[in-house]
Amino acid sequence: EKRLRLDKLLGRMGVGTRKEIRKLVKEGRVTINGEVAENPGMHVHPEKDRVEVDGLHIQYREFIYLMMNKPAGVVSATADRISETVVQLLEPEHALFEPFPVGRLDKDAEGLLLLTNDGKTAHNLLSPKKRVPKRYVALVRGKVTEADVEAFRRGVVLDDGYQAMPAELAIRSSGPESETEVTVYEGKYHQVKRMFEAVGKRVVYLKRIAMGPLRLDPSLEPGEYRELTEEEVALIT
Ligand code: URA
Repeated sequence: EKRLRLDKLLGRMGVGTRKEIRKLVKEGRVTINGEVAENPGMHVHPEKDRVEVDGLHIQYREFIYLMMNKPAGVVSATADRISETVVQLLEPEHALFEPFPVGRLDKDAEGLLLLTNDGKTAHNLLSPKKRVPKRYVALVRGKVTEADVEAFRRGVVLDDGYQAMPAELAIRSSGPESETEVTVYEGKYHQVKRMFEAVGKRVVYLKRIAMGPLRLDPSLEPGEYRELTEEEVALIT
């Protein structure tokens, strides 16, 4: 039984601020199943009750799915005492849905970050059992070699003794600094950086470009985000 305060529902649907919504209700412009709503704090069934403002049907939706190109310097959290968070980068109309980041990217990392308020989908993407692939571009100091590729394929041992699952390492260019693509099927803390440390190398730049079936939209600049398309939502839900 999902019930929601009328003002919360209208706020989420972008009808106005709390204050504006209170005024709309007071002026008798909001109806529920044809009856004038008396109180912005009353509870409604978002799926069953027909809510109208000035006779216009307010179509409710519960979930929001956002793809962000996370910029470096911002933490993947809803709140932080010191640093700016990815949620603080959202416009109020999206923040109203109270989305949270699906998994974490390091503060200095960039790239694909999904934000949603759909807990079940978030859980499915993060569940270790599902082995959802996460692909990264990693710039690494020094020359990445075929021996490193082989070590990643077998599964390296991290600094805490954890045996990482087999991962794919592709060398895009190799020199004083190497450009690589890494695909991992788990999400340990600092996973990619620690995997390279395990073969004696240091990641100097890290960007996530894919998570499961989702690919980072190349038109998103760092700090920009957009809603997932219906097709993308269908791929993950
Ligand atoms: N691996 C890392 O080391 N950092 C991230 O943010 C993600 C994967």
